[in-house]
Amino acid sequence: MSTDALTLTILGSGTSTGVPVPGCRCSVCRSETAENRRTRCSALLRWNERSILLDTATDFRQQALREGLERIDAVLFSHTHADHLHGIDDLRTLTRKGEAIPVYGSAEAVATIRRVFTYIFTDESEAGFRPRLALQAVEGPFPLFARTVVPVPLQHGPGTSLGYRIGGLAYLTDCNAVPETSLPLLAGVEVLVLDALRFTTHPSHLTVAEAIAVAQRIGARRTVLTHLGHEIDYPLHTAGLPAGVEFAYDGLTLTLPFPA
Ligand SMILES: [Zn+2]
Ligand SMILES: [Zn+2]
Ligand SMILES: [Zn+2]
Repeated sequence: MSTDALTLTILGSGTSTGVPVPGCRCSVCRSETAENRRTRCSALLRWNERSILLDTATDFRQQALREGLERIDAVLFSHTHADHLHGIDDLRTLTRKGEAIPVYGSAEAVATIRRVFTYIFTDESEAGFRPRLALQAVEGPFPLFARTVVPVPLQHGPGTSLGYRIGGLAYLTDCNAVPETSLPLLAGVEVLVLDALRFTTHPSHLTVAEAIAVAQRIGARRTVLTHLGHEIDYPLHTAGLPAGVEFAYDGLTLTLPFPA
């Protein structure tokens, strides 16, 4: 693999409950189709022999075991809702010995992580078995392992989240709108991973139709819809998507750049 290649693996394609939803007996939750079984939303990027995690989902441990992850070199946080953050403790065994993992997020996200996971950052636990993390608030593009990571501000209900663009890839989860001011940051994106919760409107997530409209404005060659709820039946609803748009599923892997 050439050093400029970038690989994306969808670790989890599901909304905050995961799918099946505990207690639900709907046809998707009872489905045995592998693509209808969704762990909480997260992804892994690989470039220059580094592994960069997008969020530490509630299901991170199972995702790490499933994909055979042996080390995480950095984490990019979209925001701090529980489904994207609460797997953070399972970074413990995946840190390089003696090194803290750089962890990036908005100033607000970094402050929340420090406050909610006090035990990770307090001196008294110095000797304890805890993740070694170096929190860094991002305000704009920053270098990471010989590439540039571009944070993309997104609207997420009453709050905000951060998408990230790296080269030809943009990963935009948990948003009900991509602000006009963020669109220029996405020009020329080849692969777009985009929030699409369900078919009916939601105050903090895009619907499938809204996501398709956003994807058409951005104009990526391939759009992968993620953060999917149990309303979406993979085989049934895949047939209704326009060319170039697909639903994510756990384990989906693709490599950029695409051949011309
Ligand atoms: Zn979420
Ligand atoms: Zn269900
Ligand atoms: Zn969220």
